[in-house]
Amino acid sequence: MATINPAYARLTAGYLFPEIARRTREFQSAHPDASILRLGIGDTTEPLPSAATDAMTTAVAGLADRETYSGYGDSEGQTTLRQAIADLYTSWGAEVKLEDVFVSDGAKSDSANLQSIFATDNVVAVQDPAYPVYVDSNVMAGRTGTKNEQDQYEGLVYMPCNAENGFFPALPEQKVDLIYICSPNNPTGTVATKEQLKAFVDYALAHKAVILFDSAYAAFIQDPDLPKSIYEIPGARSCAIEVNSFSKIAGFTGVRLGWSIVPKELEAEDAGPGVLHGMWTRRQNTFFNGASNVVQAGGLAVLSEAGQAQTGELVSYYMENARIIRECLQEKGLTVFGGENAPYVWMKTPEGVGSWEFFDKLLGECHVVGTPGAGFGPSGEGYFRLSAFGHRENILQATERIREQLSL
Ligand SMILES: *Cc1c(COP(=O)(O)O)cnc(C)c1O
Repeated sequence: MATINPAYARLTAGYLFPEIARRTREFQSAHPDASILRLGIGDTTEPLPSAATDAMTTAVAGLADRETYSGYGDSEGQTTLRQAIADLYTSWGAEVKLEDVFVSDGAKSDSANLQSIFATDNVVAVQDPAYPVYVDSNVMAGRTGTKNEQDQYEGLVYMPCNAENGFFPALPEQKVDLIYICSPNNPTGTVATKEQLKAFVDYALAHKAVILFDSAYAAFIQDPDLPKSIYEIPGARSCAIEVNSFSKIAGFTGVRLGWSIVPKELEAEDAGPGVLHGMWTRRQNTFFNGASNVVQAGGLAVLSEAGQAQTGELVSYYMENARIIRECLQEKGLTVFGGENAPYVWMKTPEGVGSWEFFDKLLGECHVVGTPGAGFGPSGEGYFRLSAFGHRENILQATERIREQLSL
């Protein structure tokens, strides 16, 4: 008799994006002539760099020829790509070695899977608001109870991020074991400073905790003083895992390629250097047969000199979108955060207007869809996210409507 994993029953229904889709659909059917502009979803819209498509085209042609055909590769990824990723970190002033790099099919799967090498009774701390994968993967793994009236899962430590603390949390007051940090942050668009990260690295070293650091938006950082990697902080190699991705930097959201850094030095309470690295190697060798060889060729090209110049242009394009959105909201007198080192603009909703109420207002008055902050965690209430991923003409049209039609 099969029985189900009871932890899944504790998950609340995926509410945010289905609810946005439902409200948008309802509005469209009531107003069939309205042309709705979507600034809600964190998906890229501009085509891949030609360096990547050229390399993938060549790789596909290679598979058509018996002389150049290749099958399974290492589950950790191709050596050339792993080295290029390690070199990227070197260029940021962070120490990462080839053997630390695990190529994957994306940062979402790694973010969800990495918790599996830690014990079920580890106490997990998350930024609030946060990218939903960190919470949900730990709920599924049985590390939490059910959700309470405060909209929080029992047993999980929520670290509030709000305007008062600059959207970076204070150190947890109780002892926690696994700490998820996303910087530049989705949804708040803010970036942790070196000092802020150092406080968490020092905490993790002192408590033998492990930080799971998501730097999927590192390439969008414009300020040279802000860290792109947690390994820019001394000591982080002993206490931090980092995940990153080709999705946002190079438009690989549909192509699928990412990586995790699990340094050899990483330790835990009951694991000396090398143990967690060995466990993650074992886990990947068992569950994963490596990322697509065609796609890895594309990733390698993204990290080439030509590729980096092209992705730099893509990043500039989206960051110009972010600037346009920011300025428009500021002109309207709204309080705006993020959008300077990340492709998300995070705004405070007007006094007395909740996240979902503002969603309906923006849709109703401007026919523009954004994302209610409350959907990313209880501390997101009273905030709203607008994404800079979009065609320029749509961003210009959306901001023109906000300027002229949004009544505040
Ligand atoms: C988009 C995103 C990712 C990337 O996920 P992929 O699976 O690599 O596409 C990871 N983390 C955050 C916070 C994101 O917003």
